[in-house]
Amino acid sequence: MTGALSRRKTLKWLAAAGGVAGLPVSLTGCGRGKPDADVIVIGAGLAGLNAAVLLQEQGADVLLVEGSERIGGRVYTRDDLPGHPDAGGSEFSIDTYARIVDRIDRLGLRAIPWRGGGIEFGYHVNGQLVHPDAWPTSEFNGIESPARNVPPLFLSGMYFPRPLPLATPEAWLEPSAAQFDIPFSDFLRQNGANAEALRLIEARAEADSLDDISALWQMHVQQFNVASGALTQLRNLEGGMSRFTDAMANQLNREVRLRAKVTGIRSDRDGVEVQVVGRQSLRARFVVCTMPLPLLRDVAFDPPLPALQAGAVAQTPYSEHTDVFLEIKAPFWEEDELPTSLWTDGKLGIVLKMNSEAEHGYLWVAIAGRSSIPWRTMSDDDVMAAVTAELARVRPSTAGRVAPMAVQNWSRHPWTRGHLAYRGPGQISKFGAVLTEPHLRTHFAGEHTAKLTMGMEGAMESGERAALEILLQI
Ligand SMILES: Cc1cc2nc3c(=O)[nH]c(=O)nc-3n(C[C@H](O)[C@H](O)[C@H](O)COP(=O)(O)OP(=O)(O)OC[C@H]3O[C@@H](n4cnc5c(N)ncnc54)[C@H](O)[C@@H]3O)c2cc1C
Repeated sequence: MTGALSRRKTLKWLAAAGGVAGLPVSLTGCGRGKPDADVIVIGAGLAGLNAAVLLQEQGADVLLVEGSERIGGRVYTRDDLPGHPDAGGSEFSIDTYARIVDRIDRLGLRAIPWRGGGIEFGYHVNGQLVHPDAWPTSEFNGIESPARNVPPLFLSGMYFPRPLPLATPEAWLEPSAAQFDIPFSDFLRQNGANAEALRLIEARAEADSLDDISALWQMHVQQFNVASGALTQLRNLEGGMSRFTDAMANQLNREVRLRAKVTGIRSDRDGVEVQVVGRQSLRARFVVCTMPLPLLRDVAFDPPLPALQAGAVAQTPYSEHTDVFLEIKAPFWEEDELPTSLWTDGKLGIVLKMNSEAEHGYLWVAIAGRSSIPWRTMSDDDVMAAVTAELARVRPSTAGRVAPMAVQNWSRHPWTRGHLAYRGPGQISKFGAVLTEPHLRTHFAGEHTAKLTMGMEGAMESGERAALEILLQI
């Protein structure tokens, strides 16, 4: 919790409203019998867990309900696989992830240096393998100076003005920033990107086309990336990020109610009723709702969400993402003498060599966007076969030296149906921060509602904000 609301001060406020013990007293006004909790939190990802822990720390009785059979949401350490790869959120910067770093410390967990095999990447661009040292002068590098000297991974950053015209982390939501809420493709062209630069940036973009992403959104991403510092600032969690979500869930007084799919949220004068598939409705004084927007679209609100908020829920896009994990049987990089990890402009995206207790670690193929292969509709076996074959084609030294382990497809994951929320051109000006606005007694959180930070820290930030909104009303 930030210093803004100390435990003592909050408890004082709670006392003024009838005391900590007075919380349930005021809840008896809920009408339909005894409420199930002071606050029901929907979704046991980072946002929900943080909201639940913070509310409980301030004296509230919290019930966390989760639709799936697992805690963690988009944090998911694959303990079933050798090397325990993180198939979801895992990397954090010690410069920008204050909430995560602080909570890791308080939980007695340990951050370790980033498990990535090195900060240098080889490139496969325009059908050719290129060593990073040769990249600036390579005939396969079609970027104009000064951007041609920059690794493709960081290319888009070269076309933003320096310093960025966003004075604060929240500035992307201010009306003065609306001038940048245009297609990212137009913005890049206006700032000197040639067609090849656009092609390389689009190859790794979250959307199919740079026309479909707001430049203002990308500027906000860039601002966070710059603040997050160099790759050397990155950390992973010892044992995998699920140790963090598990430990947070263990802090809760009440067991997380798993397999509780929420389908409706009904507010009345005294409280909120949460409808759960196949179970009796639950009642509480407040709700924190953290489900990702593709799932929230299926929830019936009574009364309905205001039109602008409903529009933002319906229209905010999510990126596609498929992860493929490969076992490394022999150190293929010793043969081609390229760095262990590879950045490609093709179907594979980024192929990261990760360190693990296995002798050679494992490969993590992180395929962003839709690419030319319909990963979403293919069976896992077909995806693994296609990825292994494509990798052997673009990096022949991997042939026979890697073996498929598993696929994690977030686009077809039933509880996420996408990777991360982003914003299309004009959407920030149109919707602003409406996704964060409470609807009667329902407060919204989740990475898609973060204002200052992104990713896992954004989820934590959003859970904190929602908890504070409720604490200020109690
Ligand atoms: C492949 C991948 C890699 C990533 N890498 C990083 C990284 O390295 N660093 C970083 O900072 N971030 C990363 N992220 C992002 C980060 O993981 C997310 O921002 C964060 O975990 C989202 O947390 P959340 O609580 O908002 O949502 P979620 O974790 O999605 O939690 C929402 C929860 O709601 C539940 N739910 C959904 N519908 C219902 C329903 N109807 N009823 C009940 N429960 C429901 C879901 O099952 C889920 O548990 C990555 C994400 C992915 C997918």
